[in-house]
Amino acid sequence: MASILYVVATPIGNLDDLSERARATLDSVSMIAAEDTRHSGRLLKTINVSTPLLALHDHNEQRATAGLLERLLAGEDVALISDAGTPLISDPGYRLISAAHDAGIEVRAVPGPCAAIAALSIAGLATDKFLFVGFLPAKAAARRKELEGLSGNSATLVFYESGRRIEALMADAEAALGGDRLACVARELTKLHEQAFRGDVAEVRAWLAADPNHLRGEFVVMISGAPNQGRAATIDLDTLLRELAREVPASAAARIAARITGRRKAECYQRLMELIPPK
Ligand code: SAM
Repeated sequence: MASILYVVATPIGNLDDLSERARATLDSVSMIAAEDTRHSGRLLKTINVSTPLLALHDHNEQRATAGLLERLLAGEDVALISDAGTPLISDPGYRLISAAHDAGIEVRAVPGPCAAIAALSIAGLATDKFLFVGFLPAKAAARRKELEGLSGNSATLVFYESGRRIEALMADAEAALGGDRLACVARELTKLHEQAFRGDVAEVRAWLAADPNHLRGEFVVMISGAPNQGRAATIDLDTLLRELAREVPASAAARIAARITGRRKAECYQRLMELIPPK
C-alpha cells in the first residue's frame, strides 16, 4: 500500500479541541515529525499516544525531510504536527510537504484549530477576502515599510503577534493605515484568559494601554482593508452624516461615516458639527 503523509492540526490552547481523527491518526502512523519534541511529547502523553517523535524545525528541516522521505518511500505513514494549531501556518513544514509532492507521496490534511481562522470567525470584520500576513518583521523600519505596502489592499489584514510587540505593531499600523480602520485583536483564544476587542485602530491602542493584562499572551490582529474608493466616491458625505446623526450620537456617526467613506473620523466629525451645530 502507498504511504501517506498526514498534516495534523493540534489545539491552540484547549486540549479538547484535538479531534478524534487527529488522535487516531497520530496513534496509527509510525513516526510523528514535530517542531519541539518535548512540547509535543507532553501532548502525546496526555492523549495516550506512544508513537515516536522526530524533530523537524526551521534549523534542521532539510536533513529531517530527507530521513522522513526515506521512511515514506519505504511504505511507512508519517504525521507532521507543530507546537500549536495547523502546521505550515507560520510554522515549519513547507520543505517536507513540497518534497513529498515532488516524490509522488500522497499528502492528506487532518484539519483543526488555527488561530487566524478562529480569530476571523469571531472578529466581525469582512471575511470575504482576507490577507494572511502572519508575523511582521521585528525591526521597526522593516515593519513600517511592510505595513505601508499593505495600505492600499482592500482585503482584511491578518497578523500574528506576541504580547511583547503588540503595542509597537498597533502604533505602526496607526501610522501606516490611519486610526479609523475597524480592527479586532483576539488574545489567548480557547484559553482561560481569552479576550477579543473590536474597535477602530486608535480604540484598540487605547484598550491595550488601559490594562497590562490586555498585553499578555498570544495575539491575532485583524485590520479592515482599504475602503473601496469607487463605492465611497458615490456616497454623499453630508447625506450620510445627517442620516446617521438621526440614529446615533455624533461621535459614532462620524466613526461609521469614516469607515464607509474612507475619510478621517476627525474630518467627518468636523463636517457633522458644521451641518448640525451642537445646541
Ligand atoms: N500554526 C499556528 C496556527 O495554526 O495558528 C500558529 C503558529 S505561530 C508560530 C504562533 C502565533 O499564532 C502566536 O504568536 C499568535 O500570534 C498566534 N496564536 C497561536 N495561538 C493563539 C491563541 N490561542 N490565541 C491567539 N493567537 C494565537
